[in-house]
Amino acid sequence: MRTPVPLLAPLALILGCSQTLPSAPPAPRAPEPAQATPISPPAPELPVTISTTEELEAETKDALRAVLRTHDVGRWVFTRDIAIDAFAIPHSHPVLTLHARYRKSPDRLLLLFVHEQLHWYLDEPAKQPGLAAAKAELAQRYPDHPGGLPEGGFNSDSTLLHLVLC
Ligand SMILES: [Zn+2]
Repeated sequence: MRTPVPLLAPLALILGCSQTLPSAPPAPRAPEPAQATPISPPAPELPVTISTTEELEAETKDALRAVLRTHDVGRWVFTRDIAIDAFAIPHSHPVLTLHARYRKSPDRLLLLFVHEQLHWYLDEPAKQPGLAAAKAELAQRYPDHPGGLPEGGFNSDSTLLHLVLC
């Protein structure tokens, strides 16, 4: 009779559980009697596709390359260092980092790429006086703008920055 532990291990891997299962010491095995070569039945098709983080990131890298080959975004590139972290929240600094969620949505991937690039554009020192003036005017026009997630940015300043950026 088998214990349920071997069945739980693959499920834990799929769900990303970090719980480790206790490993049982190997049981002594009696020598098996001589048999004819067994014929294995074909492996049944799985009802799911299992991807690893590395595969998701490689797919995203390929998708981004394809997008950048088909769209002339040269004037929107302000940083050339791009990282892909499958499950990260996309961000611009210190290294522009994209997640793998849009690997099958070229338009969204392009939008996200340009969005994070624009953060680098607005971060240039020469842009700061104009950016500050724009945010001040927006704050005056929209005094009730959201000051936090999920309606706005991380805070009031982030919301105003994204009103300029978007
Ligand atoms: Zn942003």
